[in-house]
Amino acid sequence: MAKILVLGAGGFIGGHLVKRLKRDGHWVRGVDLKLPQYGGTPADDFIVGDLRDPDLCRAAVDTRFDEVYQLAADMGGAGYIFTGANDAEIMHNSATINLNVLDACRRRMVSRVFYASSACIYPQENQTSVETPVCREDTAYPANPDSDYGWEKLFSERLYLAYGRNHGMAVRIARYHNVFGPEGAWDNGREKAPAAVCRKVARAEDGGEVEVWGDGRQSRSFLYIDECLEGTLRLMRSDFGQPVNIGSEEMVSIDQLVAEVAAVAGKRVRIRHVPGPQGVRGRRSDNGLIRSVLGWAPEQPLRTGLEHTYRWIAGLVDQNARDR
Ligand code: NAD
Repeated sequence: MAKILVLGAGGFIGGHLVKRLKRDGHWVRGVDLKLPQYGGTPADDFIVGDLRDPDLCRAAVDTRFDEVYQLAADMGGAGYIFTGANDAEIMHNSATINLNVLDACRRRMVSRVFYASSACIYPQENQTSVETPVCREDTAYPANPDSDYGWEKLFSERLYLAYGRNHGMAVRIARYHNVFGPEGAWDNGREKAPAAVCRKVARAEDGGEVEVWGDGRQSRSFLYIDECLEGTLRLMRSDFGQPVNIGSEEMVSIDQLVAEVAAVAGKRVRIRHVPGPQGVRGRRSDNGLIRSVLGWAPEQPLRTGLEHTYRWIAGLVDQNARDR
């Protein structure tokens, strides 16, 4: 049984990670501004607190944990990170968290730290094609992310790598590509495309209309939460110390995503394209590196994850309608 600290344990990925680590038999402390919104937490200990506060960070890292997973960030979907309206907050909050966390880990001589980076670090000029975007790990530099969220992630990747070099920590960095699943943001302005599309389809009548931001041809690959956790744990316990993509290689356009969700729901829907933030034109995980260093890569079809996620969101939509 390992002693494990999960930062951002009240969030979507962190909440699921705590459940997985508990199922695997570990002792787990979670830290977040809030408890998970859905279904509570099985953590052995949970600190509700602000990781921007260095004293709180030191209190959270009060012993030499075997593993620290750093997932806390000021975070959201396109409606939150691509409008520009939240850039100062995003950069200030997330960078402060990462600076504090690493300092607290160094003081306690924590030897193994995981950092959740993002596909948003890749240069925008490599993602102008909807069919052949390039997101190979060694193309990150010269850097030119399309959002300040991506720039902060890149800065923090370098910060973790520097602490690894200078303070003898084993640092593991994943570049997550669009993770989705039940118990994530779906209706609060921070939701991402899969959850937003599930909600819109669940609320639509059969034959009704669903709005899509942009022309609907922008492409992405989406990773189901279970495979995200599997990749995270495999990477953390590997000996590979450079950033690695954790994502799916199954790329779809947003219009295709709507069609997939509509098929899962058993509804016919019409798509109406409206102006809205879109991010880059195309993005897909390149899994060459993860395959070669871990001998593993995500393989589950998108449809399987959408079935679980649609069922969960449709249940909430029905419940909201009943409560009204
Ligand atoms: P999330 O927003 O659900 O979780 C982040 C958590 O961090 C939230 O619960 C939030 O309350 C917490 N947090 C924010 N500021 C804090 C603070 N000052 N003190 C304490 N807690 C604070 O997001 P998520 O989808 O679970 O993402 C987890 C990590 O993975 C983030 O670092 C995110 O940038 C990264 N990531 C996620 C995706 C994805 O598709 N979900 C993709 C790429 C990278």
